[in-house]
Amino acid sequence: MNDLEYQAFLNWRDIEVPCPRCGGSGSIVYPSTATWRGGVGGCMCTPDVCDLCWGSGDTSQPFANLRKLNNELTSLRFRIKQVEQKLNDSKKGDPE
Ligand SMILES: [Zn+2]
Repeated sequence: MNDLEYQAFLNWRDIEVPCPRCGGSGSIVYPSTATWRGGVGGCMCTPDVCDLCWGSGDTSQPFANLRKLNNELTSLRFRIKQVEQKLNDSKKGDPE
């Protein structure tokens, strides 16, 4: 892709500040199957959403941070389990 084609691509995606990690494509290749989620991964290069612009391709207008949302979801699931455990414990203590 030459400079004119690249600029046309950026214009087509309405990108003002191309992401330095993905160049504006919104996707990168991770060196393992763990991708942006981290943790244990296999030994296969895996394409997934860019973890800098989160798919927008534009660092001035990033999409939702999936890592942050995933961490919040994990935290909420943990709190739900705690509340469920408290409810179960209180039911065990109450004779019907
Ligand atoms: Zn990016």
